Parts: sequence; C-alpha cells; structure tokens
Amino acid sequence: MTVAARTQVAIVGAGPAGLLLGQLLHRQGIESVILEARSRDYCEARIRAGVLEQGMREVLIEAGVGERLEQEGLIHGGIYLRFDGENHHIPMSELTGGRCVTVYGQTEVVKDLIEARLDSGAPLHFECASVALHGIETDAPRVSYELDGVAHELHADVITGCDGFHGVCRPSIPDDVLTTWGRSYPFAWLGILADVAPSTDELIYAWHPRGFALHSMRSLELSRLYVQVATDAEIAEWPDERIWSELDARLQCDGWELQHGPIREKSITPMRSFVAAPMRYGSLFLAGDAAHIVPPTGAKGLNLAGADVTLLAEALVDRFRSGGVTGLEEYSDSCLRRVWRAQHFSWWMTSMLHIDPTDDAYGMQLQRSQLAYVTSSTAAATSLAENYVGLPFERAPAAHG
Ligand SMILES: Cc1cc2nc3c(=O)[nH]c(=O)nc-3n(C[C@H](O)[C@H](O)[C@H](O)COP(=O)(O)OP(=O)(O)OC[C@H]3O[C@@H](n4cnc5c(N)ncnc54)[C@H](O)[C@@H]3O)c2cc1C
Repeated sequence: MTVAARTQVAIVGAGPAGLLLGQLLHRQGIESVILEARSRDYCEARIRAGVLEQGMREVLIEAGVGERLEQEGLIHGGIYLRFDGENHHIPMSELTGGRCVTVYGQTEVVKDLIEARLDSGAPLHFECASVALHGIETDAPRVSYELDGVAHELHADVITGCDGFHGVCRPSIPDDVLTTWGRSYPFAWLGILADVAPSTDELIYAWHPRGFALHSMRSLELSRLYVQVATDAEIAEWPDERIWSELDARLQCDGWELQHGPIREKSITPMRSFVAAPMRYGSLFLAGDAAHIVPPTGAKGLNLAGADVTLLAEALVDRFRSGGVTGLEEYSDSCLRRVWRAQHFSWWMTSMLHIDPTDDAYGMQLQRSQLAYVTSSTAAATSLAENYVGLPFERAPAAHG
C-alpha cells in the first residue's frame, strides 16, 4: 500500500536551505512538506559553518527565528590576517558602511529552524528512506519515499532540491541539461571544537609556510580552530598535542598566546569548488549545496544557501498568490550571479592563504605580496571586506515592487 498526499511545495532536505525555505513559505501561508533522510539528532549535531553574513542574519530575524541569534550571536566588525609573525586588522565594518558578520553556529541555526517548524505544526519528516523524484519535467511532479517501512507518494506543484551536495535532486536532472564546473584543492582542513575561551576578539586567518590556520569561535567559551592538512590525512595521525603544537606554530605572533583546552570534536573536510547550472529543471528548483559548494575559507556556503532560498521563497509566494512566473523564471540566473561572485572570493581567499604542495617558492612570494597589498591598501582591504560581510541579499522583483 502507498500513502498518497499533496502539498504545494515538496522540500527535499532539512539542512539550513530546506528548513529556512519551509519557514519563509509557512509565514506567507504557502504549504510545504520537508523530507529529510537523517534523524533530528544527526541534523542538529552536524558541526559546520559559523559565520553569518549581515543579509543572512536579517533574513533569519525577519523569518521569526532570530531571538536566540540576537541574544547569543557574536557580532564581528573585522578579521585579522596574520603572516610572518605579524597581525593585521581588516576593519570590515568601517570599510563597508557599518556592515558586520555574526558568529553563530550552523548547529544553532538548524536547531532554531527545526523548533520553529515543529511548533508551527507544518510537516517535517525525518529518516525518510529511498527518496526519489518523478515527473519533474511536467507540472505535476511527485516524490516517493519510505517512512517507518511504509511507502509514501507526495504530489506537489513544485519540488525544491535542498538535499546538499550528495543528495538525489541534482542527479535527477538529465546529464545533457546540466553544465558543471569544479575544482578540488590539494589540501584539506582539520577542524576542532575546543572547550576554551577564544584567544582573540576577531577571527584570525593565518598564512604560514607550514600551512594555513584559522582561529574562529562559536561562543565566549567555545573555540573553533582549523589547520591545513594533506588530502589523505587521517584523524588518527592527529592526536591533540600535535594539533595544538601546529596551531601554536602557525598562529605565532609576538606578545600573543593561544590558550589550549579539551578538544570535544575533530573532523577533516575536503576543499572543493563546484557549480551546477541551471538551478531549475521543469518543476525542480535546486538551492544551496545541492547546486554549488565552495571551500570554507570565505565562509560563504551557508550564506549562499540562505540567499538562494530567500529568492526562491519570494518567487514561489508570487507564483501561488498571483500566478506570477517572472521570479521563478529568473531564479537560476539571479542566484548564479551571487554564486559566481562567492565562488571567486572563496577561491581567492583559499589561494592566498593555503600552501599548495604542488607549487614552488615563487608561489609563496606571490602570496606574501598579495597579503602585504591587502593589509596596506584601503582599496584592496575594502574589496575583501565587502565580499566577506556579503553583498545585500537580492530580493525577487514582485516581492518589493
Ligand atoms: C567544516 C565546514 C565549515 C564550514 N564553514 C562555513 C562558514 O563559516 N560559513 C558558511 O557560510 N558556510 C560554511 N560551510 C558550508 C555550509 O555548512 C554549507 O554550505 C551548508 O550546510 C549548506 O546548506 P544546505 O541546506 O544547502 O545543505 P546541507 O547542510 O548539506 O543539508 C542538506 C540536507 O539534505 C539531507 N539529504 C541528503 N540527501 C537526502 C535525500 N536523498 N533525501 C532527503 N534528505 C536528504 C541531508 O541529510 C541534509 O540534512 C562549512 C562547511 C563545512 C563542512
């Protein structure tokens, strides 16, 4: 027996993209059903991003899920670039007319959105198995899945693929429709979460001949730190003492000391850039990591996911309220303009700050020169700052016209 149901928007994936889209639609009275492959605990514990652009913060507040973010998020108006033992402050807020980023963990964003969804009573199903899309080239698409051993079929006007890089939505689009671009970097990030107060008031991005290091944070008590490692590195090769000693060496700066503490989590992340276009095929709209990923150096992935679904929600509201199709027709091109800007910025930050094991000493001298320029020229620092805090989120014409 198959249980059949109907909704306006079927959302595949309960990461930040799917959950925020569901919340934005719900507040405008548009029905949706969110289908997620993993458990609630898994989704809420997945440690990833932590830097929200100004536009992302504004959308979360506007969506009614900003209460804890406003109380607990740490507002940052700058970052440090550290190299050759010297620290250089980039005053982003000053350079961008007051724009800032907020340090607030993706885990917390996801928890806030799941809580809002469950409170609203709108459907969100965890642990859906065998999720598959059908009829996406028509205007009567459906999603089949299994829940607790029972087969389900969800009919919808539109399907949104918010199921991340490894999901099923992007591969449902015929190969000859999609163009993809990508790059894998010859290094990875080993990230730790440590129970120790941050040793800095702003994030530190450090260039060092031994490799890149980043000192970030999640709260006033919790530090998040990363070191560049080889692509084939394994956690077992990195006991706590080795991580701290590498961080000490790469973040070294006169008169400054890194505080150590118990490490509660360690993980290795590959570094990859990827774009698939178009982000629409028939009744299927891709958003977030399902369509594009960036290396985390520029802190852009979560924010791009937020920008995509903000546009998508407004276009869908227009379509369901007044039959307007312009927003949906322009969705892919509008998103891709921002996506490519973020792709370039993420690639640029990554190339400037990491030691490429396939490069030579000449490459390192170019990096030093670029860092010296960015930290001494107001024009160059402003370019970094406006990309880092993020350009304002684009809004669908009908929503604000
Ligand atoms: C270490 C690290 C650090 C990062 N730092 C930053 C940062 O500082 N700033 C930033 O902006 N970004 C950062 N990112 C990137 C950011 O985490 C992602 O871009 C973001 O999670 C994208 O959200 P999403 O909803 O598109 O995809 P995801 O978060 O991947 O969510 C997709 C969801 O779909 C579900 N799913 C998958 N397949 C199926 C299926 N078949 N059926 C149903 N559900 C399915 C998944 O379980 C998941 O819950 C970082 C990433 C990493 C790994």
